Amino acid sequence: MINEMAVQGSAFYSVDFDKVRYIKNGIFCVNDKGYIDGVYEEGDEDYSLIRLKYLEKGKLKVLSDTEVMLPGFVDLHIHASQWPQAGLALDRPLEIWLGEYTFPLESRYRNLDFANEVYRDVVSSTLKYGTTTALYFATVDREPSVLLAKICGELGQRGLVGKVAMDNPESTPEFCRDNSPKEAINETEAFIKEVLEIQDLYKQKVYPVVTPRFIPSCTDETLEGLGKLAKKYDAHIQTHCSESDWAHNFAKERFGITDAQALDKFGLITSKTVVAHAPFLEPDDVKLLADKKTTIGHCPLSNAYFANSVLPFKDFSSRGVNIGMATDISGGYSPSMYQAIRQSIISSRMLEDGVDPSINGKNRGRKNSAITLNNALYSATVSGGIALGLPIGKLEKGYSFDVQIVDIEKNIPKFYPEKSEEDILHKVLLLSESSNIKEVWVQGNRVKC
Ligand SMILES: [Zn+2]
Repeated sequence: MINEMAVQGSAFYSVDFDKVRYIKNGIFCVNDKGYIDGVYEEGDEDYSLIRLKYLEKGKLKVLSDTEVMLPGFVDLHIHASQWPQAGLALDRPLEIWLGEYTFPLESRYRNLDFANEVYRDVVSSTLKYGTTTALYFATVDREPSVLLAKICGELGQRGLVGKVAMDNPESTPEFCRDNSPKEAINETEAFIKEVLEIQDLYKQKVYPVVTPRFIPSCTDETLEGLGKLAKKYDAHIQTHCSESDWAHNFAKERFGITDAQALDKFGLITSKTVVAHAPFLEPDDVKLLADKKTTIGHCPLSNAYFANSVLPFKDFSSRGVNIGMATDISGGYSPSMYQAIRQSIISSRMLEDGVDPSINGKNRGRKNSAITLNNALYSATVSGGIALGLPIGKLEKGYSFDVQIVDIEKNIPKFYPEKSEEDILHKVLLLSESSNIKEVWVQGNRVKC
């Protein structure tokens, strides 16, 4: 009762893949567990009574005319440990990027002071951009990975965190690897238990995630053991899948089947799995993901650097695959999910129109590939909730009160009159910076002033 409150103001949220709902001057009631208890619109019978009830108790927060609420974003693929190298070395080939930058950096988190400093910074930085839930890769080491989960808990972000499993000596350096399949599996299990122990200390909760880095960096024994662990603990799973020509062909050479099919054989394709990237999925893989209700974590910015292609978002989505949005720090350089939304639209339009002017316009692109802003907002919010099996991403009764309150005038030109609410939403999504985000709330708690 004591934490009950209501927010009066205007809001946007996705009701489905194509449609965004605008609520003008609504009242959003939040219960003491941080869930939305009811939404009242002007004209509803109870509107005035409800408003008065919270007003009299001093529990009504009223937004100004220049503020709107959006659901908090769900970042479905982000390497917290790569935060210090965001923006670095993106012009290098992937193997140099991994070998000279990424793996040496990831091994530094054994120093817990370093881990503490970086992880606090990445969690607070993503919160500032309105990311209320994040699916994180940490590193191969258990202790700093548990620390990341704790930091998410303390700073108020809903963190789903994975200790990365990587034990294949052929494609991981000695200084950054599990020394054996046994170690990879035992350390992952110990990690899951430690995170489950602290899970309920935080109102928004934190979650352990089974995290094979990707097929090339894991032995068969480890992949099999991780599949069993995921089942035993009913845990979330995350990995990279069919990211590039190289990664896609690697699995085919090793197993004679695609990486998606191989992951499935090891029990790693479930309704709680997020596969990052995945532009090279083959038709059977797409069907597999749709059948198993597995989600793709779409990383449009990093795909432009490392994926050798654009995710056929609309095609895969029309075949029933859920696709959530992700920043992929630091294959993607920006922690902003606004940036991911923008790049996803840009990339999809380039896929539709084609990019090589020397090719005749009729043959240049791939028809029906462009996604809309509404599609991208749905992906960054509702699809994330579906992926993780959590009631997040919408501003409806029963959902967690995870919101960002956005100033719609700062950084956004107002000299031309917008004709509709849709115009306002477009400007907000395309022009907002972190300084537009005035407040962020997760599970009914304000986490950023
Ligand atoms: Zn990644």
